[in-house]
Amino acid sequence: MTDTDETGEVLTLSHGAGASSMRSLIDSLAVSRFADDDDDPSAGTVGLAALDDGAAHPIQGDRSVVVTTDSHVVDPPRFPGGDIGRLAVAGTVNDLAVMGATEPLMLTCSLVVEEGYHVDELDSIMASVEDTCEDAGVQVTTGDTKVMGSGDLDGPVINTTGVAVVPSGSVVPDSALSVGDAIIVSGTVGDHGIALLSEREDFGFEGDLESDVAPVNDLVRTAAEAGRVTAMKDPTRGGVATALNEMASKSDIGLELDEPAIPVDGTVASAAEVLGIDPLDVANEGKVIFGVDAEDADAVLEALQDHPQGRDAALVGHATDEHTGRVVLDTGFGRRYLSEPEGEALPRIC
Ligand code: MG
Repeated sequence: MTDTDETGEVLTLSHGAGASSMRSLIDSLAVSRFADDDDDPSAGTVGLAALDDGAAHPIQGDRSVVVTTDSHVVDPPRFPGGDIGRLAVAGTVNDLAVMGATEPLMLTCSLVVEEGYHVDELDSIMASVEDTCEDAGVQVTTGDTKVMGSGDLDGPVINTTGVAVVPSGSVVPDSALSVGDAIIVSGTVGDHGIALLSEREDFGFEGDLESDVAPVNDLVRTAAEAGRVTAMKDPTRGGVATALNEMASKSDIGLELDEPAIPVDGTVASAAEVLGIDPLDVANEGKVIFGVDAEDADAVLEALQDHPQGRDAALVGHATDEHTGRVVLDTGFGRRYLSEPEGEALPRIC
């Protein structure tokens, strides 16, 4: 989309950042047109207006179809810990998983590349798509390829759409936290965003930093088997700060978090300080925020910590009836609101 008159609003990078400016753009362009208001997550209906990680729609026999879609434009396409192929599969599998759909039925994969792009390079990306599909237990069943003119695109774009069918009662929205629910983070936060940015900026931390990009459907299944998960979100663009604020405001409750309990890798913390970026504000591609019924919190935490992807899982706070819609961080020295980043310091992060 480009500006065609001098007064019209034009897109900025912050419109793609996953936080408030993107949501208002989506509201005016899409929600106002396509949303209806018959959402009932407990009956397996989650529509566009929910702006959840995906949509759920009831079909016959008390089951719901769950669908999500995402276009991936990460720069560079190959980064420490993964590449755009792994990201494209994990990103979509994970959005399904945090809707409660941990067994994806099928995946689509559409590529947009430019003339002159090396076929070997594309082959290596598709090998990564294949490997990651195997990790997640899903297959690509249809797709599309478009080739743009030379110079029309400065890197590959991969769109994936994921489909699953689940019992309607097992759909988990990001909006159903209740007062008292425990908040569990599945591992260290900020790894993907800080690894990507360090790689781009060539700060010398690269050797020790890796993206966490991975499918989390097995991890989510482990949590759901251990106890009652009330709400979930994968903290991608905008990081944990954005995901927690969304969960609080959509659930109409407050969150109180113990900042020192939030796991951050030591090298990520150092790199983030040099870069002047809060690890809570940047993308994760292999992590989950769980809201868990307080009675089941210990069981879910233990089950996660026994899983290879959940070793660093931590109980970081709880939902409260105070400061509705907001997230309060107890820093150990005082309390402050955790706000979501207005825009994104890091375009093309996922
Ligand atoms: Mg998501």
